[in-house]
Amino acid sequence: MAKLMKGFDTKLVHAGEPERLIGGAVAMPIFQSSTYEYSGQKGYHDLRYIRLNNTPNHEVLHAKLATIENAEAALVAGSGMAAISCALLTVVGGGGHMLAQDCVYGGTHDLLTQDFPALGIEVDFIDGEDPGSWREMLRPNTRAIYVEAISNPLVRVSDLQAASDFAAEHGLVSIIDNTFASPVNFRPSEIGFDLSLHSATKYLNGHSDIVAGAVMGGHELVARITRKLNHLGGVLDPHACFLLHRGLKTLGVRVRHQNESALRVARFLEQHPRVNRVNYPGLESHPNHLRACELFDGFGGVLSFELEGGVEEADRFIANASIPICAPSLGGVETLITRPATTSHSGMNAQERARAGISDGLIRLSVGLESSDDLIEDFENALRATFQ
Ligand SMILES: *Cc1c(COP(=O)(O)O)cnc(C)c1O
Repeated sequence: MAKLMKGFDTKLVHAGEPERLIGGAVAMPIFQSSTYEYSGQKGYHDLRYIRLNNTPNHEVLHAKLATIENAEAALVAGSGMAAISCALLTVVGGGGHMLAQDCVYGGTHDLLTQDFPALGIEVDFIDGEDPGSWREMLRPNTRAIYVEAISNPLVRVSDLQAASDFAAEHGLVSIIDNTFASPVNFRPSEIGFDLSLHSATKYLNGHSDIVAGAVMGGHELVARITRKLNHLGGVLDPHACFLLHRGLKTLGVRVRHQNESALRVARFLEQHPRVNRVNYPGLESHPNHLRACELFDGFGGVLSFELEGGVEEADRFIANASIPICAPSLGGVETLITRPATTSHSGMNAQERARAGISDGLIRLSVGLESSDDLIEDFENALRATFQ
C-alpha cells in the first residue's frame, strides 16, 4: 500500500525516500561515487554524475523539498548564494532588468549591485511594503520581482501577496528568499510564487555544520535552473546532501520550538525596562504583525532589539549573556547573537544603516533549541549585569 503521507511532518520524514529500502538501510546511504555506469542516456544532462545534480542523494532531497513546499520540483545547490545567483542568472539573464526589495540579505545585495551590472543585468530596488510604487519602475525588459519572506535584521514582512500578484499581472517571474520563514511557517507556492529560494545552511539543515542552498518551483523553471547549475558547477556534494537530508527530517519539531521560544523571549524583552524596542513579527507591536498572521503559520526564530544606551551597552550585554554564541548566521540548534552593524551589515556605513533603521546598537538573536526558561533567565541576568 502507498504510504499515508498527509501531514507536513510525515512528508519531512518519508517523502522522496526509496520505496524499497536500499540494502534494508533505514537511513538513506551516502552514494560516494562521482560517476555512474552508462545506461543508454541520450543527453549530457541525463548522464549520472555528481555535478549534474542527479545522484540518489540529490534525487531524494529534490523530491522531499518539493513535497514540503507544495512545489512541483526542487534543486539543491552548493550554498544559498549558488541557488540565488543561479536562479537569477537563469530568469533575468544578460539584458534583463529586475525589481528587488530593498534591504535584502547582504550577499544578495552585493551580487545585485557589484556583479550584475558587468553581466548586463539591471536592478532597481523597491519598497516591499508599498506596492503602489512598483508599477512606475517597470521597463520593457523587466523579468522578475525579488523579495524576502522576512527581512534581516528588522524582521519586516513585505506585501508578499502583492508581489506575487504583481508578477502575474505583468508577466514577471516572482521569486522569494524563504530562508527566514522556512517551509514550516510559509510555503510561497501557496500564494502564487514561481520560485522559492533557501539558504539551506540555516533552518533546513539546522545544525550549523554545512553550507547548502535550495530552489523550489515549477518543473520547467527548475529544469532551466538545473541546467545552469550543471554548467556553473555550484553543486552540493553527496556527504553534504546526506547531512541536509538528516537535518530536514527534524525541521518541523525544531522550527515549531523556535517559533514558540522566540515569541517568549521577545515578550520577555519587550516588558523589560532596559529594553527600548523589540522587533519580532509575532509581537502585536510589530508594524507587520497582522500581515504576518495572515501569511505565516509561525513567526520564526529570529528577533532583534535595542537596549537603553547604545553600542557599549549592547556589547556588554552580548559579553554578559552566557548561553548565546556571538556569531553570524542563524537557524541552528544553538542560540546565536550578533550586532549586525559589525557583521551582516558592516558593508554599509553608519548613515546608510541609519536610513535603513538599523542602529549601531541593534542586537540580533537567532533562538536555538535550548530551554526557553534558561534563555530568559540568562537574558535577565545579563541585563542586570549590563546596567548595574
Ligand atoms: C545566509 C543567507 C543567504 C546566503 O546563504 P549561504 O548559504 O550562506 O550562501 C541568503 N539569504 C538569506 C536570507 C540568508 O540568511
